[in-house]
Amino acid sequence: MAKQEDQFKKVISHAKEYGYIFQSSEIYDGLSAVYDYAQNGVELKKNIREYWWKAMVQMNENIVGIDASILMHPTTWKASGHVDAFNDPLIDNKDSKKRYRADVLVEDYCAKIEAKIDKEVKKAAKRFGDSFDKEQFLATNGRVLGYQEKINSILSRLAKSLENEDLADVKALIEELEIADPLTGSKNWTDVKQFNLMFGTQLGASADSSMQVYLRPETAQGIFVNFLNVQKTGRMKIPFGIAQTGKAFRNEIVARQFIFRMREFEQMEMQFFIKPGTQQEWYKHWKETRLKWHLSLGMGEDNYRFHDHEKLAHYADAAADIEFKFPFGFKELEGIHSRTDFDLKQHEEFSGKKLQYFDHEENKSYVPYVLETSIGLDRMFLAVFSNSLQEEELENGTSRVVLKLPAVLAPVKATIMPLTNKDGLPEIAQKIYKELRWEFNTIIDDQGVSIGKRYRRQDAAGTPFCITVDHDTLEDNTVTIRHRDSMEQKRVKIDDLRDIIKQEVDMRTWLMKM
Ligand code: ATP
Repeated sequence: MAKQEDQFKKVISHAKEYGYIFQSSEIYDGLSAVYDYAQNGVELKKNIREYWWKAMVQMNENIVGIDASILMHPTTWKASGHVDAFNDPLIDNKDSKKRYRADVLVEDYCAKIEAKIDKEVKKAAKRFGDSFDKEQFLATNGRVLGYQEKINSILSRLAKSLENEDLADVKALIEELEIADPLTGSKNWTDVKQFNLMFGTQLGASADSSMQVYLRPETAQGIFVNFLNVQKTGRMKIPFGIAQTGKAFRNEIVARQFIFRMREFEQMEMQFFIKPGTQQEWYKHWKETRLKWHLSLGMGEDNYRFHDHEKLAHYADAAADIEFKFPFGFKELEGIHSRTDFDLKQHEEFSGKKLQYFDHEENKSYVPYVLETSIGLDRMFLAVFSNSLQEEELENGTSRVVLKLPAVLAPVKATIMPLTNKDGLPEIAQKIYKELRWEFNTIIDDQGVSIGKRYRRQDAAGTPFCITVDHDTLEDNTVTIRHRDSMEQKRVKIDDLRDIIKQEVDMRTWLMKM
Protein backbone atom coordinates (compact mmCIF):
# COMPACT_ATOMS: atom_id res chain seq x y z
CA MET A 1 0.00 0.00 0.00
CA ALA A 2 2.76 2.41 0.98
CA LYS A 3 4.51 1.64 -2.32
CA GLN A 4 1.32 2.49 -4.22
CA GLU A 5 0.98 5.76 -2.36
CA ASP A 6 4.61 6.65 -3.06
CA GLN A 7 4.15 5.93 -6.75
CA PHE A 8 1.02 8.09 -6.83
CA LYS A 9 2.84 10.95 -5.09
CA LYS A 10 5.56 10.70 -7.71
CA VAL A 11 2.95 10.94 -10.47
CA ILE A 12 1.48 14.11 -8.95
CA SER A 13 4.81 15.85 -8.43
CA HIS A 14 6.09 14.82 -11.87
CA ALA A 15 2.93 16.24 -13.46
CA LYS A 16 3.72 19.58 -11.87
CA GLU A 17 7.45 19.60 -12.42
CA TYR A 18 7.18 18.89 -16.13
CA GLY A 19 4.36 21.34 -16.87
CA TYR A 20 1.45 18.92 -17.14
CA ILE A 21 -0.90 19.76 -14.28
CA PHE A 22 -1.06 22.57 -11.74
CA GLN A 23 -3.41 22.97 -8.84
CA SER A 24 -6.10 25.53 -9.68
CA SER A 25 -5.47 29.02 -8.23
CA GLU A 26 -2.39 27.69 -6.48
CA ILE A 27 -1.28 31.12 -5.22
CA TYR A 28 -4.45 31.11 -3.09
CA ASP A 29 -3.65 27.59 -1.84
CA GLY A 30 -5.76 25.92 -4.51
CA LEU A 31 -9.38 24.85 -4.78
CA SER A 32 -10.22 21.32 -3.75
CA ALA A 33 -10.48 18.83 -6.64
CA VAL A 34 -10.03 21.49 -9.33
CA TYR A 35 -6.93 21.47 -11.53
CA ASP A 36 -5.38 23.38 -14.43
CA TYR A 37 -3.68 21.79 -17.41
CA ALA A 38 -0.29 23.34 -18.06
CA GLN A 39 1.67 23.78 -21.29
CA ASN A 40 2.38 20.07 -21.80
CA GLY A 41 -0.82 18.85 -20.17
CA VAL A 42 -3.01 20.80 -22.53
CA GLU A 43 -1.29 19.14 -25.51
CA LEU A 44 -1.57 15.62 -24.07
CA LYS A 45 -5.23 16.22 -23.26
CA LYS A 46 -5.90 17.60 -26.74
CA ASN A 47 -4.21 14.58 -28.32
CA ILE A 48 -6.25 12.10 -26.26
CA ARG A 49 -9.42 13.97 -27.22
CA GLU A 50 -8.43 13.87 -30.87
CA TYR A 51 -7.53 10.18 -30.69
CA TRP A 52 -11.01 9.49 -29.32
CA TRP A 53 -12.75 11.80 -31.78
CA LYS A 54 -11.01 10.24 -34.79
CA ALA A 55 -11.87 6.71 -33.64
CA MET A 56 -15.48 7.54 -32.82
CA VAL A 57 -16.54 10.22 -35.32
CA GLN A 58 -14.17 10.39 -38.27
CA MET A 59 -13.80 6.62 -38.65
CA ASN A 60 -17.53 5.85 -38.39
CA GLU A 61 -19.75 7.03 -41.20
CA ASN A 62 -22.83 6.73 -38.97
CA ILE A 63 -21.51 8.82 -36.05
CA VAL A 64 -21.48 12.62 -36.01
CA GLY A 65 -20.39 15.11 -33.36
CA ILE A 66 -21.99 18.10 -31.65
CA ASP A 67 -20.95 20.68 -29.10
CA ALA A 68 -23.90 21.52 -26.83
CA SER A 69 -23.91 24.19 -24.14
CA ILE A 70 -22.97 23.63 -20.53
CA LEU A 71 -26.09 25.48 -19.40
CA MET A 72 -29.36 23.86 -20.42
CA HIS A 73 -33.02 24.51 -19.71
CA PRO A 74 -33.54 23.39 -16.09
CA THR A 75 -36.39 21.06 -17.03
CA THR A 76 -33.76 18.91 -18.77
CA TRP A 77 -32.51 17.85 -15.36
CA LYS A 78 -36.00 17.22 -13.98
CA ALA A 79 -36.67 14.96 -16.96
CA SER A 80 -33.34 13.14 -16.79
CA GLY A 81 -33.86 12.36 -13.11
CA HIS A 82 -30.83 14.32 -11.93
CA VAL A 83 -32.77 16.79 -9.76
CA ASP A 84 -34.40 13.97 -7.81
CA ALA A 85 -31.88 11.17 -8.01
CA PHE A 86 -28.35 12.31 -8.85
CA ASN A 87 -27.25 11.65 -5.31
CA ASP A 88 -24.42 9.94 -3.56
CA PRO A 89 -24.82 8.42 -0.08
CA LEU A 90 -22.77 10.50 2.31
CA ILE A 91 -21.50 9.56 5.77
CA ASP A 92 -19.46 11.62 8.25
CA ASN A 93 -17.12 10.39 10.88
CA LYS A 94 -18.07 12.12 14.12
CA ASP A 95 -14.54 12.07 15.55
CA SER A 96 -12.42 13.00 12.55
CA LYS A 97 -15.14 15.20 10.97
CA LYS A 98 -14.12 13.66 7.63
CA ARG A 99 -16.76 13.03 5.01
CA TYR A 100 -16.98 9.86 2.92
CA ARG A 101 -19.11 8.20 0.31
CA ALA A 102 -20.75 5.33 2.17
CA ASP A 103 -20.79 3.07 -0.90
CA VAL A 104 -17.09 3.71 -1.53
CA LEU A 105 -16.19 2.75 2.06
CA VAL A 106 -17.91 -0.61 1.49
CA GLU A 107 -16.36 -1.06 -1.96
CA ASP A 108 -12.89 -0.33 -0.58
CA TYR A 109 -13.50 -2.93 2.12
CA CYS A 110 -14.25 -5.47 -0.65
CA ALA A 111 -11.14 -4.38 -2.55
CA LYS A 112 -9.11 -5.38 0.49
CA ILE A 113 -10.64 -8.87 0.43
CA GLU A 114 -9.85 -8.99 -3.28
CA ALA A 115 -6.24 -8.16 -2.49
CA LYS A 116 -6.21 -11.24 -0.25
CA ILE A 117 -7.38 -13.35 -3.19
CA ASP A 118 -4.55 -11.92 -5.31
CA LYS A 119 -2.12 -12.84 -2.56
CA GLU A 120 -3.37 -16.44 -2.50
CA VAL A 121 -3.02 -16.61 -6.28
CA LYS A 122 0.55 -15.32 -6.17
CA LYS A 123 1.45 -17.77 -3.42
CA ALA A 124 -0.03 -20.71 -5.31
CA ALA A 125 1.59 -19.65 -8.59
CA LYS A 126 4.95 -19.72 -6.84
CA ARG A 127 4.26 -23.10 -5.27
CA PHE A 128 2.99 -24.85 -8.43
CA GLY A 129 5.31 -23.18 -10.92
CA ASP A 130 4.60 -23.84 -14.61
CA SER A 131 1.78 -26.25 -13.91
CA PHE A 132 -0.28 -23.51 -12.20
CA ASP A 133 -3.75 -23.04 -13.66
CA LYS A 134 -5.14 -19.74 -12.36
CA GLU A 135 -8.72 -20.29 -13.57
CA GLN A 136 -8.90 -23.68 -11.92
CA PHE A 137 -7.37 -22.38 -8.71
CA LEU A 138 -9.91 -19.54 -8.51
CA ALA A 139 -12.76 -21.96 -9.11
CA THR A 140 -11.72 -24.61 -6.58
CA ASN A 141 -9.58 -23.22 -3.76
CA GLY A 142 -11.67 -23.18 -0.60
CA ARG A 143 -10.18 -20.05 0.91
CA VAL A 144 -10.53 -18.08 -2.34
CA LEU A 145 -14.12 -19.22 -2.77
CA GLY A 146 -14.88 -18.08 0.75
CA TYR A 147 -13.44 -14.64 0.08
CA GLN A 148 -15.32 -14.35 -3.20
CA GLU A 149 -18.59 -15.36 -1.58
CA LYS A 150 -18.09 -12.71 1.08
CA ILE A 151 -17.46 -10.01 -1.54
CA ASN A 152 -20.53 -11.05 -3.53
CA SER A 153 -22.82 -11.04 -0.55
CA ILE A 154 -21.60 -7.62 0.66
CA LEU A 155 -21.89 -6.01 -2.76
CA SER A 156 -25.30 -7.41 -3.51
CA ARG A 157 -26.62 -6.24 -0.12
CA LEU A 158 -25.17 -2.77 -0.80
CA ALA A 159 -26.74 -2.69 -4.25
CA LYS A 160 -30.12 -3.69 -2.87
CA SER A 161 -30.08 -1.16 -0.05
CA LEU A 162 -29.09 1.66 -2.38
CA GLU A 163 -31.74 0.68 -4.88
CA ASN A 164 -34.41 0.66 -2.18
CA GLU A 165 -33.05 3.90 -0.69
CA ASP A 166 -32.60 1.98 2.55
CA LEU A 167 -29.83 4.18 3.91
CA ALA A 168 -30.20 2.80 7.43
CA ASP A 169 -29.13 -0.58 6.09
CA VAL A 170 -26.09 0.94 4.39
CA LYS A 171 -25.05 2.27 7.78
CA ALA A 172 -25.83 -1.08 9.41
CA LEU A 173 -23.60 -2.77 6.84
CA ILE A 174 -20.73 -0.40 7.59
CA GLU A 175 -21.11 -1.11 11.29
CA GLU A 176 -21.41 -4.88 10.87
CA LEU A 177 -18.25 -4.96 8.76
CA GLU A 178 -16.59 -2.77 11.39
CA ILE A 179 -15.36 -0.37 8.74
CA ALA A 180 -13.24 2.36 10.26
CA ASP A 181 -12.32 5.85 9.04
CA PRO A 182 -9.32 5.09 6.81
CA LEU A 183 -7.50 8.14 8.10
CA THR A 184 -8.04 7.80 11.85
CA GLY A 185 -9.44 4.34 12.57
CA SER A 186 -12.54 5.74 14.28
CA LYS A 187 -15.80 3.82 13.89
CA ASN A 188 -18.01 6.60 15.21
CA TRP A 189 -20.27 7.26 12.19
CA THR A 190 -23.27 9.51 11.55
CA ASP A 191 -26.34 8.25 9.67
CA VAL A 192 -26.08 7.97 5.90
CA LYS A 193 -27.68 10.85 3.95
CA GLN A 194 -28.27 11.50 0.27
CA PHE A 195 -26.36 14.42 -1.26
CA ASN A 196 -27.18 15.92 -4.69
CA LEU A 197 -24.10 16.38 -6.83
CA MET A 198 -25.31 19.12 -9.16
CA PHE A 199 -23.95 22.68 -8.99
CA GLY A 200 -26.78 25.19 -9.20
CA THR A 201 -26.56 28.83 -10.24
CA GLN A 202 -28.83 31.71 -11.24
CA LEU A 203 -29.46 32.74 -14.83
CA GLY A 204 -30.55 36.34 -15.44
CA ALA A 205 -29.89 39.58 -13.59
CA SER A 206 -33.10 40.63 -11.84
CA ALA A 207 -34.42 38.77 -8.85
CA ASP A 208 -37.91 38.13 -10.27
CA SER A 209 -36.88 37.08 -13.79
CA SER A 210 -33.88 34.97 -12.80
CA MET A 211 -34.06 31.23 -13.07
CA GLN A 212 -32.32 28.43 -11.21
CA VAL A 213 -30.11 26.53 -13.67
CA TYR A 214 -27.43 23.86 -13.29
CA LEU A 215 -23.95 23.32 -14.60
CA ARG A 216 -24.41 20.08 -16.53
CA PRO A 217 -23.31 17.00 -14.57
CA GLU A 218 -22.90 14.98 -17.78
CA THR A 219 -22.70 15.80 -21.48
CA ALA A 220 -25.21 13.11 -22.48
CA GLN A 221 -28.36 15.21 -22.04
CA GLY A 222 -27.13 17.78 -24.59
CA ILE A 223 -27.14 14.93 -27.07
CA PHE A 224 -30.61 13.64 -26.16
CA VAL A 225 -32.32 17.01 -26.47
CA ASN A 226 -30.70 17.47 -29.90
CA PHE A 227 -31.47 13.94 -31.08
CA LEU A 228 -34.19 14.87 -33.57
CA ASN A 229 -32.40 18.01 -34.85
CA VAL A 230 -29.33 15.97 -35.72
CA GLN A 231 -31.31 13.02 -37.10
CA LYS A 232 -33.33 15.26 -39.41
CA THR A 233 -30.64 17.72 -40.57
CA GLY A 234 -28.04 14.96 -40.93
CA ARG A 235 -30.57 12.56 -42.52
CA MET A 236 -29.29 9.93 -40.14
CA LYS A 237 -30.61 6.38 -40.31
CA ILE A 238 -30.77 4.08 -37.30
CA PRO A 239 -28.37 2.79 -36.05
CA PHE A 240 -26.45 6.05 -35.71
CA GLY A 241 -24.47 7.85 -33.04
CA ILE A 242 -23.94 11.38 -31.75
CA ALA A 243 -20.66 12.13 -30.01
CA GLN A 244 -19.58 15.03 -27.87
CA THR A 245 -16.69 16.08 -25.68
CA GLY A 246 -16.98 18.79 -23.07
CA LYS A 247 -16.95 19.95 -19.49
CA ALA A 248 -19.17 18.45 -16.81
CA PHE A 249 -19.47 19.47 -13.16
CA ARG A 250 -20.16 17.42 -10.05
CA ASN A 251 -19.97 18.54 -6.47
CA GLU A 252 -18.21 15.32 -5.47
CA ILE A 253 -18.36 14.43 -1.78
CA VAL A 254 -14.84 13.12 -1.56
CA ALA A 255 -12.23 14.30 -3.97
CA ARG A 256 -8.83 13.18 -2.84
CA GLN A 257 -7.46 11.39 -5.85
CA PHE A 258 -5.91 14.13 -7.97
CA ILE A 259 -7.54 14.28 -11.41
CA PHE A 260 -9.28 10.92 -10.95
CA ARG A 261 -12.24 12.60 -9.27
CA MET A 262 -12.64 16.28 -9.98
CA ARG A 263 -15.44 18.76 -9.44
CA GLU A 264 -14.93 20.19 -12.94
CA PHE A 265 -13.92 17.62 -15.53
CA GLU A 266 -14.31 16.70 -19.16
CA GLN A 267 -16.26 13.82 -20.64
CA MET A 268 -16.11 12.17 -24.04
CA GLU A 269 -19.47 10.56 -24.67
CA MET A 270 -21.24 8.88 -27.54
CA GLN A 271 -24.92 7.98 -27.62
CA PHE A 272 -25.76 5.33 -30.18
CA PHE A 273 -29.42 5.25 -31.24
CA ILE A 274 -30.71 1.78 -32.07
CA LYS A 275 -33.82 -0.22 -32.77
CA PRO A 276 -35.51 -1.46 -29.56
CA GLY A 277 -34.65 -5.10 -28.98
CA THR A 278 -31.16 -4.86 -30.48
CA GLN A 279 -29.54 -3.49 -27.33
CA GLN A 280 -27.82 -6.73 -26.27
CA GLU A 281 -26.00 -7.00 -29.56
CA TRP A 282 -24.89 -3.34 -29.55
CA TYR A 283 -23.91 -3.51 -25.90
CA LYS A 284 -21.55 -6.35 -26.75
CA HIS A 285 -20.28 -4.51 -29.84
CA TRP A 286 -19.43 -1.30 -28.00
CA LYS A 287 -17.85 -3.09 -25.07
CA GLU A 288 -15.49 -4.84 -27.47
CA THR A 289 -14.87 -1.79 -29.63
CA ARG A 290 -14.05 0.48 -26.75
CA LEU A 291 -11.67 -2.03 -25.20
CA LYS A 292 -9.88 -2.32 -28.55
CA TRP A 293 -9.46 1.46 -28.61
CA HIS A 294 -7.75 1.31 -25.22
CA LEU A 295 -5.56 -1.63 -26.20
CA SER A 296 -4.44 0.13 -29.40
CA LEU A 297 -2.38 2.48 -27.21
CA GLY A 298 -0.23 -0.44 -26.10
CA MET A 299 -0.47 0.18 -22.36
CA GLY A 300 -0.73 -3.53 -21.48
CA GLU A 301 -3.72 -5.85 -21.66
CA ASP A 302 -3.35 -6.78 -17.99
CA ASN A 303 -4.08 -3.21 -16.97
CA TYR A 304 -7.72 -3.39 -18.10
CA ARG A 305 -10.70 -5.38 -16.95
CA PHE A 306 -14.47 -5.23 -17.27
CA HIS A 307 -16.67 -4.79 -14.25
CA ASP A 308 -20.33 -5.59 -14.82
CA HIS A 309 -22.64 -3.52 -12.65
CA GLU A 310 -24.73 -5.12 -9.93
CA LYS A 311 -26.52 -1.90 -9.15
CA LEU A 312 -27.99 -0.41 -12.31
CA ALA A 313 -28.68 3.30 -12.60
CA HIS A 314 -32.34 4.24 -12.92
CA TYR A 315 -32.04 4.47 -16.72
CA ALA A 316 -30.04 1.33 -17.56
CA ASP A 317 -30.84 -2.29 -18.43
CA ALA A 318 -27.17 -3.34 -18.59
CA ALA A 319 -23.95 -1.56 -17.67
CA ALA A 320 -20.25 -2.30 -17.44
CA ASP A 321 -17.14 -0.32 -16.64
CA ILE A 322 -13.80 -0.65 -18.28
CA GLU A 323 -11.53 -0.49 -15.26
CA PHE A 324 -7.88 0.51 -15.42
CA LYS A 325 -5.09 -0.29 -13.01
CA PHE A 326 -4.38 3.17 -11.60
CA PRO A 327 -1.58 3.65 -9.03
CA PHE A 328 -4.26 3.12 -6.34
CA GLY A 329 -5.72 -0.05 -7.91
CA PHE A 330 -8.32 -1.01 -10.51
CA LYS A 331 -10.92 1.76 -10.88
CA GLU A 332 -13.52 2.85 -13.42
CA LEU A 333 -12.14 4.56 -16.49
CA GLU A 334 -15.07 4.30 -18.88
CA GLY A 335 -18.71 3.26 -18.67
CA ILE A 336 -20.73 1.42 -21.30
CA HIS A 337 -24.43 1.69 -20.58
CA SER A 338 -27.52 0.31 -22.24
CA ARG A 339 -29.84 3.26 -21.45
CA THR A 340 -33.02 1.85 -23.07
CA ASP A 341 -35.47 4.56 -24.23
CA PHE A 342 -35.52 6.13 -20.78
CA ASP A 343 -34.01 9.52 -21.63
CA LEU A 344 -35.84 10.20 -24.88
CA LYS A 345 -39.17 9.12 -23.35
CA GLN A 346 -38.62 11.38 -20.35
CA HIS A 347 -37.82 14.33 -22.61
CA GLU A 348 -40.94 13.58 -24.67
CA GLU A 349 -43.02 13.65 -21.53
CA PHE A 350 -41.52 16.79 -20.02
CA SER A 351 -41.30 18.81 -23.27
CA GLY A 352 -44.52 17.61 -24.83
CA LYS A 353 -42.61 17.13 -28.13
CA LYS A 354 -42.32 13.83 -29.97
CA LEU A 355 -38.79 12.43 -30.12
CA GLN A 356 -39.42 9.53 -32.46
CA TYR A 357 -37.79 8.03 -35.47
CA PHE A 358 -39.67 6.85 -38.52
CA ASP A 359 -38.20 3.55 -39.59
CA HIS A 360 -38.80 3.12 -43.33
CA GLU A 361 -37.91 -0.56 -43.26
CA GLU A 362 -40.40 -1.31 -40.52
CA ASN A 363 -42.81 1.36 -41.72
CA LYS A 364 -43.43 2.64 -38.19
CA SER A 365 -42.29 5.23 -35.69
CA TYR A 366 -40.64 4.45 -32.40
CA VAL A 367 -38.52 5.97 -29.65
CA PRO A 368 -35.04 4.53 -30.24
CA TYR A 369 -33.07 2.70 -27.59
CA VAL A 370 -29.66 4.09 -26.68
CA LEU A 371 -26.27 2.56 -26.09
CA GLU A 372 -23.84 4.95 -24.40
CA THR A 373 -20.06 4.98 -24.15
CA SER A 374 -18.80 7.51 -21.61
CA ILE A 375 -15.20 8.15 -20.68
CA GLY A 376 -13.64 10.84 -18.53
CA LEU A 377 -10.92 12.66 -20.46
CA ASP A 378 -9.08 13.55 -17.26
CA ARG A 379 -9.23 9.95 -16.04
CA MET A 380 -7.85 8.80 -19.35
CA PHE A 381 -5.10 11.40 -18.95
CA LEU A 382 -4.28 9.98 -15.51
CA ALA A 383 -4.30 6.42 -16.88
CA VAL A 384 -1.88 7.33 -19.67
CA PHE A 385 0.34 9.53 -17.54
CA SER A 386 0.64 7.24 -14.51
CA ASN A 387 1.21 4.16 -16.64
CA SER A 388 3.91 5.91 -18.65
CA LEU A 389 5.96 7.20 -15.73
CA GLN A 390 8.76 4.73 -15.15
CA GLU A 391 12.11 4.56 -13.46
CA GLU A 392 14.57 2.45 -15.41
CA GLU A 393 17.82 0.88 -14.35
CA LEU A 394 20.39 1.34 -17.10
CA GLU A 395 23.21 -0.97 -18.12
CA ASN A 396 25.87 1.40 -16.84
CA GLY A 397 24.43 1.14 -13.32
CA THR A 398 22.67 4.53 -13.36
CA SER A 399 18.93 5.02 -13.64
CA ARG A 400 16.67 7.37 -15.52
CA VAL A 401 13.12 8.64 -15.14
CA VAL A 402 11.26 8.29 -18.40
CA LEU A 403 7.70 9.17 -19.34
CA LYS A 404 6.91 6.54 -21.95
CA LEU A 405 3.79 8.17 -23.33
CA PRO A 406 2.39 6.49 -26.43
CA ALA A 407 4.20 8.56 -29.11
CA VAL A 408 0.92 9.43 -30.80
CA LEU A 409 -0.22 11.24 -27.65
CA ALA A 410 3.05 12.88 -26.60
CA PRO A 411 2.73 16.69 -26.28
CA VAL A 412 6.04 17.43 -27.99
CA LYS A 413 7.07 15.01 -30.72
CA ALA A 414 10.64 16.17 -31.19
CA THR A 415 13.10 18.47 -29.46
CA ILE A 416 15.89 19.96 -31.52
CA MET A 417 19.17 20.58 -29.75
CA PRO A 418 22.08 22.55 -31.16
CA LEU A 419 25.24 21.10 -29.59
CA THR A 420 26.57 24.61 -28.96
CA ASN A 421 25.13 28.07 -29.32
CA LYS A 422 27.63 29.18 -31.94
CA ASP A 423 29.17 28.23 -35.33
CA GLY A 424 25.78 28.47 -37.06
CA LEU A 425 24.30 25.47 -35.22
CA PRO A 426 21.36 27.43 -33.66
CA GLU A 427 20.46 28.69 -37.13
CA ILE A 428 20.28 25.13 -38.49
CA ALA A 429 18.18 24.09 -35.48
CA GLN A 430 15.82 26.98 -36.27
CA LYS A 431 15.57 25.87 -39.88
CA ILE A 432 14.69 22.28 -38.91
CA TYR A 433 12.18 23.57 -36.37
CA LYS A 434 10.50 25.81 -38.92
CA GLU A 435 10.09 22.87 -41.28
CA LEU A 436 8.90 20.25 -38.77
CA ARG A 437 6.44 22.54 -36.94
CA TRP A 438 4.01 22.39 -39.86
CA GLU A 439 3.20 18.84 -38.88
CA PHE A 440 4.50 18.16 -35.39
CA ASN A 441 4.59 20.03 -32.14
CA THR A 442 8.34 20.63 -31.96
CA ILE A 443 10.55 22.69 -29.65
CA ILE A 444 14.17 23.81 -29.50
CA ASP A 445 16.28 23.19 -26.40
CA ASP A 446 19.35 25.39 -26.58
CA GLN A 447 20.00 25.55 -22.83
CA GLY A 448 23.74 25.57 -22.33
CA VAL A 449 23.83 22.21 -20.49
CA SER A 450 25.33 18.97 -21.85
CA ILE A 451 23.42 16.98 -24.45
CA GLY A 452 23.16 14.05 -21.99
CA LYS A 453 21.35 16.25 -19.46
CA ARG A 454 19.10 17.62 -22.15
CA TYR A 455 18.22 14.06 -23.26
CA ARG A 456 17.29 13.14 -19.70
CA ARG A 457 15.01 16.15 -19.37
CA GLN A 458 13.20 15.22 -22.59
CA ASP A 459 12.92 11.57 -21.44
CA ALA A 460 11.21 12.75 -18.29
CA ALA A 461 8.99 15.14 -20.24
CA GLY A 462 7.88 12.30 -22.54
CA THR A 463 9.28 13.54 -25.86
CA PRO A 464 9.71 10.57 -28.25
CA PHE A 465 12.55 12.08 -30.33
CA CYS A 466 15.58 14.29 -29.77
CA ILE A 467 17.43 15.71 -32.74
CA THR A 468 20.99 16.90 -32.20
CA VAL A 469 22.63 19.38 -34.53
CA ASP A 470 26.44 19.24 -34.35
CA HIS A 471 29.48 20.27 -36.35
CA ASP A 472 29.12 17.35 -38.78
CA THR A 473 25.73 18.77 -39.69
CA LEU A 474 27.53 21.73 -41.24
CA GLU A 475 29.42 19.35 -43.51
CA ASP A 476 26.85 16.78 -44.59
CA ASN A 477 23.35 17.92 -43.60
CA THR A 478 22.87 15.03 -41.20
CA VAL A 479 21.77 15.05 -37.56
CA THR A 480 21.58 12.53 -34.72
CA ILE A 481 18.11 11.35 -33.92
CA ARG A 482 17.64 9.69 -30.55
CA HIS A 483 14.72 7.52 -29.60
CA ARG A 484 13.27 8.03 -26.10
CA ASP A 485 12.41 4.39 -25.31
CA SER A 486 15.35 2.51 -26.82
CA MET A 487 17.79 5.42 -26.36
CA GLU A 488 19.14 4.33 -29.74
CA GLN A 489 20.89 7.06 -31.72
CA LYS A 490 21.12 7.19 -35.48
CA ARG A 491 22.71 9.51 -37.96
CA VAL A 492 20.12 10.57 -40.52
CA LYS A 493 19.63 13.15 -43.26
CA ILE A 494 17.73 16.27 -42.26
CA ASP A 495 15.44 15.65 -45.22
CA ASP A 496 14.41 12.26 -43.80
CA LEU A 497 13.38 13.56 -40.34
CA ARG A 498 9.79 14.21 -41.28
CA ASP A 499 9.18 10.64 -42.46
CA ILE A 500 10.96 9.04 -39.51
CA ILE A 501 8.90 11.00 -36.99
CA LYS A 502 5.66 10.56 -38.90
CA GLN A 503 6.03 6.80 -38.94
CA GLU A 504 5.90 6.69 -35.15
CA VAL A 505 3.44 9.41 -34.27
CA ASP A 506 0.86 9.17 -37.04
CA MET A 507 -2.65 8.53 -35.65
CA ARG A 508 -3.44 6.32 -38.58
CA THR A 509 -0.74 3.79 -37.64
CA TRP A 510 -2.00 3.63 -34.06
CA LEU A 511 -5.71 3.51 -34.84
CA MET A 512 -5.14 0.73 -37.34
CA LYS A 513 -4.21 -1.47 -34.38
CA MET A 514 -7.84 -1.34 -33.21
P1 ATP B 1 -17.77 7.11 -10.26
O1 ATP B 1 -18.50 5.85 -9.90
O2 ATP B 1 -16.27 6.97 -10.30
O3 ATP B 1 -18.25 8.32 -9.51
P2 ATP B 1 -19.65 7.40 -12.34
O4 ATP B 1 -20.09 6.00 -12.51
O5 ATP B 1 -20.51 8.35 -11.59
O6 ATP B 1 -18.16 7.43 -11.76
P3 ATP B 1 -20.37 8.18 -14.97
O7 ATP B 1 -21.51 9.01 -14.53
O8 ATP B 1 -20.63 6.87 -15.60
O9 ATP B 1 -19.34 8.01 -13.75
O10 ATP B 1 -19.45 9.08 -15.90
C1 ATP B 1 -18.74 8.56 -17.00
C2 ATP B 1 -17.26 8.79 -16.88
O11 ATP B 1 -16.96 10.12 -16.52
C3 ATP B 1 -16.59 7.94 -15.80
O12 ATP B 1 -16.28 6.66 -16.30
C4 ATP B 1 -15.35 8.73 -15.49
O13 ATP B 1 -14.31 8.42 -16.41
C5 ATP B 1 -15.78 10.16 -15.73
N1 ATP B 1 -16.05 10.84 -14.46
C6 ATP B 1 -17.16 10.77 -13.71
N2 ATP B 1 -17.06 11.54 -12.62
C7 ATP B 1 -15.84 12.13 -12.68
C8 ATP B 1 -15.14 13.05 -11.85
N3 ATP B 1 -15.69 13.54 -10.76
N4 ATP B 1 -13.90 13.44 -12.22
C9 ATP B 1 -13.32 12.95 -13.34
N5 ATP B 1 -13.94 12.09 -14.16
C10 ATP B 1 -15.18 11.67 -13.85
